[in-house]
Amino acid sequence: MNHFDVGELRSQFPILQQRVNGQPLVYLDNAATTQKPDSVIDAIANYYRNDNANVHRGAHALSDRATEVFESARQKVAEFISASSKDEVLWTRGTTESINLVASSWGGQNLSAGDRILVSAMEHHANIVPWQMVAEKHGARVEPIPVDADGSINMAAFVSLLDERVKMVAVGHVSNALGSINPVSEIISLAHGVGARVLIDAAQSIAHWPVNVAELNCDFYAFSAHKMFGPTGMGVLYGKRECLESMPPYQGGGEMIETVSFAGTTFNKLPYKFEAGTPNIAGAVGLAAAVEFLQGIDRTAADQHETQLLARAEQELDALGGYQIVGKASQRVAVLSFIGDFAHPQDIGMILDKQGVAVRTGNHCAQPIMDQFGIPGTVRASFSLYNTVEDVDRLIAGLAKAKMFLA
Ligand code: PLP
Repeated sequence: MNHFDVGELRSQFPILQQRVNGQPLVYLDNAATTQKPDSVIDAIANYYRNDNANVHRGAHALSDRATEVFESARQKVAEFISASSKDEVLWTRGTTESINLVASSWGGQNLSAGDRILVSAMEHHANIVPWQMVAEKHGARVEPIPVDADGSINMAAFVSLLDERVKMVAVGHVSNALGSINPVSEIISLAHGVGARVLIDAAQSIAHWPVNVAELNCDFYAFSAHKMFGPTGMGVLYGKRECLESMPPYQGGGEMIETVSFAGTTFNKLPYKFEAGTPNIAGAVGLAAAVEFLQGIDRTAADQHETQLLARAEQELDALGGYQIVGKASQRVAVLSFIGDFAHPQDIGMILDKQGVAVRTGNHCAQPIMDQFGIPGTVRASFSLYNTVEDVDRLIAGLAKAKMFLA
């Protein structure tokens, strides 16, 4: 039976045991990257200690073992997201590369002059710029789906933007800047209604609840290992087989090749067609360990725990006064994005850091939504399942100090 015990969970994260600036670390920058449990660190170290070799091509035991752990990681991820086959799971360097792969390969093949790509106005730059780059090449246009003042997608405006020239709708499941949870099921079925494909940027949702890509019926689903307790430099692109089969390779070399000749080169089958060069084998091993870590947790209880932390933080911040929460969509993950009336977000962040509280400040790679709100950025405290009520209280105590020093 899976269980959820914050104290026991925290003890699995060595980095959380340290002091920063003389205080026990309060790590509230989980939307930027999550910390890694012992099991993930050990899996990567064990791989390098015992199994390291190149995959798929060696005629020796180590290479067979490396291939086995690498491919079983792919199978584990396929099951974790309920993909119908591991051929639909491509390894990338992260969400950014996953989106660039689709924009370049799918976009290059499917976009022409006058076509439209819709992205929400609160997307991360990684889900705006690759589309702008491919749109410019092919005479297509990237248009924002309006976002209301509370940080939720305006669904009526979305519907009115849809027509048969919309070829791609690319939206985040969760906004990294505001924490808003977007109604992706509805967005997917509306977009499919006009024949558009849909890419879901799951960078911020994957750590929060289980996903079933088959049920969701999205065409592409992108996420990063490092935001779900796995290693950096490792990511996933799920794509429906029919999409991936018809798309041209993204990069050339190594694993993506079947035969090479100057008369014409042929490409490998899925998923290798999209994996040029020696892959991040240790990254796949670490990601599989992160999946196992999540599978060992009662995720409903973890979600409830995070929701309670957010509610407490909001309540205490309101009571403190002088700070305004930015983005208050009714459906949100445990991300508290806010500004102070009296100081720049960066100054507030520096005072928190002096007290051992790690948050992120700035535009969170979501400049268009910050511009819409007329602010340079926010202070963002993003909670994970290993955060505690004491962490919330330390954040609020730090913010009280920041107000005292800066107001
Ligand atoms: N999309 C969203 C919503 C994000 O929050 C991030 C990272 O912060 C990314 C994309 C890019 O992820 P990565 O840098 O891991 O490629």
